[in-house]
Amino acid sequence: MRIAILSRSPSIYSTARLAEAAKARGHEVRVVDTLRCYMNIASARPTIHYRGEQLEAFDAVIPRIGASVTFYGTAVLRQFEMIGTFPLNESVAVTRSRDKLRSLQLLSRRGIGMPVTGFARAPDDINDVIEMVGGAPLVVKLLEGTQGIGVVLCETKKAAESVLEAFMGLNVSIMVQEYIKEAGGADIRCFVVGDKVVASIKRQALPGEFRSNLHRGGSAEVVKITPQERAVATRAARIMGLNVAGVDILRSNHGPLVMEVNSSPGLEGIEGATGKDVADLIIEFLEKNARKDRTRTRGKG
Ligand code: ADP
Repeated sequence: MRIAILSRSPSIYSTARLAEAAKARGHEVRVVDTLRCYMNIASARPTIHYRGEQLEAFDAVIPRIGASVTFYGTAVLRQFEMIGTFPLNESVAVTRSRDKLRSLQLLSRRGIGMPVTGFARAPDDINDVIEMVGGAPLVVKLLEGTQGIGVVLCETKKAAESVLEAFMGLNVSIMVQEYIKEAGGADIRCFVVGDKVVASIKRQALPGEFRSNLHRGGSAEVVKITPQERAVATRAARIMGLNVAGVDILRSNHGPLVMEVNSSPGLEGIEGATGKDVADLIIEFLEKNARKDRTRTRGKG
């Protein structure tokens, strides 16, 4: 197969590993810088141009689109789909997963457990929304945040009010969430490929910190997940329409709660902690599923 990896740089760990795995399985691979692609969309024959040339045809494309380039990146991915290239994850599914509220609404509609979550826009509604999620302690999250930045634990109602007022004053979108204390500063990352969880790790926050993100100093270790967690993770990925996903779960007293479904999950933490060749499994998935013009969205818009 001829595989394109849409990524800002070939030296990023996940990109490098995917390229290596593809080559090892006998495929031709090219890392294409997402932001250097430009397109002709007003034509019967759409094309993609790259650094002064027309890009050759690929059988499959692996999007590794960072949160900061979602808008342009998904447009480029859509163009690949328009010319019949099979995407590992479809552009609509990537766009959907980048909108945290939309994702949670979609998952809740299908009965996936999640922390009680509220959102509001006007300062006058702060008190009500705090009540709605069961009062303090609670977690306030910036919808635009990644890697744990903009996720604040408010221990008291007063603190929650101040934080919400501040964020609303800055005109940023936020959500308010019940704090799952019993998770103990840990979460479970389930790496889904196709309809299977192929690897899972437990990420534990530093002492005194509740955010377990590896970027916030959290540590990762292999974890054995329960059949229920496995089922929740694969269902969540399927509902989002993602073939490959990182599903983040909190272990609560009333079962697994999904926090987020990531459409470009990193390989470094999960491969490092589990020793599994996740990149190879992703390429194997493409071998089984990539066909020209097979780019229908599995989930709903
Ligand atoms: P980001 O997308 O920026 O990583 P998350 O929503 O995943 O933000 O939150 C970052 C971390 O904070 C999570 O990995 C988890 O450890 C912790 N966390 C988030 N929400 C809650 C919650 N409702 N209850 C307990 N811990 C939480």
